[in-house]
Amino acid sequence: MGYVKITLEEDEVPRNFQNILPDLPKPLEPPLNPATNKPVGPSDLEAIFPKEVIRQEVSQERFIPIPEEVREALLVLGRPTPLFRARRLEKALKTPAKIYFKHEGLNPCGSHKPNTAVAQAYYNMKEGVEKLATETGAGQWGTALSYATMLFGLGCEVFMVKSSFAQKPYRKIMMETYGAKVHASPSEITSYGKKVLKEKPNHPGTLGVAISEAIETVVTDKKGKTKYSLGSVLNHVLLHQSVIGQEVRAQLAKADEQADYVIGCIGGGSNFGGIALPLIYDKLKGKNNTEFIAVEPIACPSTTKGEYKYDFGDSAGMTPLMKMYTLGKDFIPDPLHAGGLRYHGMAPIISLLVNEKMVKPVAYKQKEVFEAAMVFARSEGIIAAPESSHAIKAAIDKALECRKKNEEKTIVFNLSGHGLLDLGGYADYLAGKIID
Ligand SMILES: *Cc1c(COP(=O)(O)O)cnc(C)c1O
Repeated sequence: MGYVKITLEEDEVPRNFQNILPDLPKPLEPPLNPATNKPVGPSDLEAIFPKEVIRQEVSQERFIPIPEEVREALLVLGRPTPLFRARRLEKALKTPAKIYFKHEGLNPCGSHKPNTAVAQAYYNMKEGVEKLATETGAGQWGTALSYATMLFGLGCEVFMVKSSFAQKPYRKIMMETYGAKVHASPSEITSYGKKVLKEKPNHPGTLGVAISEAIETVVTDKKGKTKYSLGSVLNHVLLHQSVIGQEVRAQLAKADEQADYVIGCIGGGSNFGGIALPLIYDKLKGKNNTEFIAVEPIACPSTTKGEYKYDFGDSAGMTPLMKMYTLGKDFIPDPLHAGGLRYHGMAPIISLLVNEKMVKPVAYKQKEVFEAAMVFARSEGIIAAPESSHAIKAAIDKALECRKKNEEKTIVFNLSGHGLLDLGGYADYLAGKIID
């Protein structure tokens, strides 16, 4: 009956991160210093990031070796992760298409995010940093960084978007269990948080505001031993996530398959970049003819409705300006169960590929995404994260299109995380409270 899941051996976990920068169809435009409008130099970033991360951010090397300790952490996290064939879903949809999904939700944190968290924590530890500060939306990134700092003996301070802080109390408990300190953002402990609260006392929080608070914590640390860590958007984060796509490449080869479609949800672009970029590299070399589909919520439609221009990464305007698809730094998306997709911008690498028409963006409403999540739960038995359910929705749509045209295409999507701490969303759906 063929594969139900395609697994790899431990020694097949990649030994290098694969970097797309030297192979992009056009060079990325540099980040700019907002005061001078000149490109930021590596030294401008040293206040907030360790040197190795800055080096990787602009590296033109195609392969960057994964340090042994980081590779070991990836093994502890359960890599290589399985590529499942969703035969029960195919049957439920009565589709001739083959549907595969890469399961990134099986590790202790429950999402793809620890792939970069362990690398970032390691490089910071190596350079003598004592604590990392960060933001988190739904809590997945905060959980991953709390876990990674625990592994490498660092402290961790997390600013969690207030709307999620209230919705997802168990995420906070996970972070605290790993030893992190967690604040609802906007908070009273930074001057930016205070300013935001003064203007709008019941501000629900956004990733942009939380990023500003985390960066303020770093630049005001008198000892200078705190650095900042970002869970998505930047080149080095997508680089670390390339372990996903490199494994998928090996798994598809093992099953003698070629993907017709590779699908992922996009918040900042890291899990999609992780699965897609190694295969986009292959496409650029003429080795596949895959179509790449990036899925976002209609409530936060950066690549389908945003503008491709220079904008800040945060809301306060403290970060360099990046060329990306953006809804504007002050955009406040409605609270959404897919909290990890509530970001106003998009990774510059993914933005460039969307602009070059190498990645096709699509957007869905929250209700149809939960409907797809239910079909998946009731066929494959997996309760997916609301973020990942955007990818499920797009995969199901493609599979139904195949049914109509009687085409046996191969669809691969990234299941970026499980939804066991997102049951509030499922509860709302089951109660008929998600109407749009
Ligand atoms: C954070 C998160 C996302 C969105 O972030 P990307 O950087 O776009 O991957 C998607 N899925 C899950 C499960 C997440 O935790």
